[in-house]
Amino acid sequence: MSTLRFKALEQISKREYKPFVNEFSKTSEYFAKDVFTRNKMQEYFSAEAYESVVNSIDFGVRIERKIANQIAAGMKAWAVDQGATHYTHWFHPLNGATAEKHDAFFEPTDDGGAIERFDGSLLIQQEPDASSFPNGGIRNTFEARGYSAWDPSSPAFVVDNTLCIPTIFISYTGEALDYKTPLLKALTNLDETATDVCQYFDKNVTKVISTLGWEQEYFLVDEALYQARPDLMLTGRTLMGHSSAKDQQLDDHYFGSIHERVVAFMKEFEVKALKLGIPVKTRHNEVAPNQFECAPVYEETNLAVDHNQLLMEIIAKVARKHKFKALLHEKPFKGINGSGKHNNWSLRTSTGVNLLSPGKTPKNNLQFLTFLVNTIKAVHDNADLLRASIVSAGNEHRLGASEAPPSIISVFLGKQLLNVLENIEKTVSHKKMSPEEKTDLKLQIGKIPEILLDNTDRNRTSPFAFTGNRFEFRAVGSAANCASPMIVLNAAMANQLSEFKSSVDKLIEKGIKKDEAIFKILREYIIHSKKIIFEGNGYGEEWVKEAKKRGLTNIKEMSEAIKAFVSKESIELFAKNNVLSKRELEARLEIRQEIFIKKVQIESRVLGDLAINHIIPIAIKYQNTLIENVRGLQEILSKEDSLEASQVQIESIKKISKHVSEIRKQVKKMTDERKSINKFKDNDLIAKSYNKVIKQYLESIRYHIDKLELIVDNEIWPLPKYRELLFM
Ligand code: ADP
Ligand code: MG
Repeated sequence: MSTLRFKALEQISKREYKPFVNEFSKTSEYFAKDVFTRNKMQEYFSAEAYESVVNSIDFGVRIERKIANQIAAGMKAWAVDQGATHYTHWFHPLNGATAEKHDAFFEPTDDGGAIERFDGSLLIQQEPDASSFPNGGIRNTFEARGYSAWDPSSPAFVVDNTLCIPTIFISYTGEALDYKTPLLKALTNLDETATDVCQYFDKNVTKVISTLGWEQEYFLVDEALYQARPDLMLTGRTLMGHSSAKDQQLDDHYFGSIHERVVAFMKEFEVKALKLGIPVKTRHNEVAPNQFECAPVYEETNLAVDHNQLLMEIIAKVARKHKFKALLHEKPFKGINGSGKHNNWSLRTSTGVNLLSPGKTPKNNLQFLTFLVNTIKAVHDNADLLRASIVSAGNEHRLGASEAPPSIISVFLGKQLLNVLENIEKTVSHKKMSPEEKTDLKLQIGKIPEILLDNTDRNRTSPFAFTGNRFEFRAVGSAANCASPMIVLNAAMANQLSEFKSSVDKLIEKGIKKDEAIFKILREYIIHSKKIIFEGNGYGEEWVKEAKKRGLTNIKEMSEAIKAFVSKESIELFAKNNVLSKRELEARLEIRQEIFIKKVQIESRVLGDLAINHIIPIAIKYQNTLIENVRGLQEILSKEDSLEASQVQIESIKKISKHVSEIRKQVKKMTDERKSINKFKDNDLIAKSYNKVIKQYLESIRYHIDKLELIVDNEIWPLPKYRELLFM
């Protein structure tokens, strides 16, 4: 019993854990302690520099070089006071991770000494040697270098003695090589068009921000067990493992009490997150064993995205300290709920109004309806693109697996709101509305807050659900960068609102009163987008049929779904709003395809190796034990007796032979297929073939391994089993 598995199990039984002790008594004492907030800027900046930064954050005004030097000096002084010795530009390249390159604050001088250096130019712009970041062919054809530039709207922070400065990352020719650049553009567009539309209702609105509240799900496994599972280590998910006799069928994990060892971990990472200004608020167990969720209070979308990226890093780091491994993969365990990252999304005005929250007056409610219906239309018109923004090799295992939204994009509203929309459709007509009709409609709209208060119906099976004061985009995967769906959603909404404005204005020019013009256009949109509204069970088979009848797309394969990035409509949408050019979209598609291909390729190699080097030798070893046993019985018993006594063993011997030979055969075939697929020149074809051919082998090889797991002596099985990984 010297396998890693048993050593790990032994280690776990001896794990000691101390409760986490927070040195502070109140959250207010340490919240945003490690962030260069406006308060601290005021302390470290001249009045001139402070004003310049605030103008840049609030109104996008450029910062002058001279002032940038002052800002850099102030930022550095603060960071040094926090113990920082290094600084880094912190950005989100397209591989989905975050990147940082740490530089010391000092520079050596000619006379052998050193001076501390960090001026405005280093703050505002840098040229990280970025040739190892994915670029989808953009940098190869032009310049080899990319550069990172400061994003003042996301505050700098200090982590482990390093000042981290959030930046965008672009190529020398100006193409975006990251998630932040297009996100900021989409958010700026949305601000403009939404503010314009708000003018119909309230002239005081000067700015609209998009808000995002994400919910991060993850699994924890003990570090020792993790290290005994090469598949988890190399691919983030288990490629084999028979289901545990008990998993989530008793529903006893959700909101159950949290294990003390996990609590200690959670408390520590929450304190770290709060110090970094991430307003984490809820923590609870999720449906599956060892699955958890963490959610902050929502924030402005760009900041919320940065905070989610940062939180994923913190979770991983603090988990290690507590001898856990945090699994952010969308589907680490077969047959058990996967992990998502719900994106709660809304819009908020400079006057503090949530545009997706029904208001107190009929006027406010018409504004609410306007934004609600425009969102529905934006989702309807961009369903394929929204799907493309959330698919990934990992999320493919989760979507449509009866615990996550399917690959059909639909919107859930709730009976009451749907009623309101249906009434608008009926009441408003092409002819001029009568005063009575208008009054009736407004009366009904005035009642929306009451009906919603009484009816908090929730539909957990919808990929895009209205939840009272926001939409919840549930199809996002747990490992994803939220920027991807947020770019699409906000760009689509910005575009939609600008269309809406021009249609309404046209009617007003024709002499139709504003309210009526709005109603008329909303009615058109309701009729146009109705087919995407679905109130029933999104996990059911019926929905698949019904959606097909309605003409909604249902693209299950990631390799197919991502192609929506370069559809004619997507290219037009993004170009019109200057969010992403055709070239940038093509580059993004290429990068995502490559990541997909590499992931499946790695899974296939890992499974092949494990099958041949770990599983088959153990299966044969056990088979030999059985053979010896049968021989022994033959020696001491009569022929007849020994035949009877060894029946079961002989059956197992045969079964083992069958599974072993299947595994050998299929691994060989899979390897050959991989070799021939890799020769293809076209990425699209490679991705498709990996999907169709290689993924089948992953499943069928696993089937035989999982069967062997049930036959082979538990004492010699080399890999930690599901029951051990999931219940500690
Ligand atoms: P549930 O699990 O029921 O969906 P949670 O409390 O886990 O609810 O998550 C709700 C999330 O929605 C939180 O992150 C919260 O901040 C966010 N949220 C609430 N209001 C808004 C809003 N106006 N805009 C964006 N996110 C919001
Ligand atoms: Mg939720």
